[in-house]
Amino acid sequence: MKKINESFICINCWKEVSQAARTCRNHCPYCFVSLHVDEKIPWDRKTTCGGKMYPTAYEIRNWQLKICFQCKECGKIHRNKRADDDHVEKLDEYIKQYKEILY
Ligand SMILES: [Zn+2]
Ligand SMILES: [Zn+2]
Repeated sequence: MKKINESFICINCWKEVSQAARTCRNHCPYCFVSLHVDEKIPWDRKTTCGGKMYPTAYEIRNWQLKICFQCKECGKIHRNKRADDDHVEKLDEYIKQYKEILY
């Protein structure tokens, strides 16, 4: 069985991203960008879009930070939990930056 929780190189900032401690990571902990590979549920890998997904907003529910991501190519929106080692102190700043890319 191939493990899906493995390190990868970020397609946006080119930093090497290691495994998340407890969650299956699908976004970069430094710049929060991910690739649109999932159709309905995280890690189903059913879509062929492959566009870049950027964070657009976040919300805190039950003490958990959830981040909304939007695909630049098809406009699809995904919500995802933050990973433990996400650099969330920069998230606000990035959301502002990415708005210019998305709209
Ligand atoms: Zn990155
Ligand atoms: Zn897409």
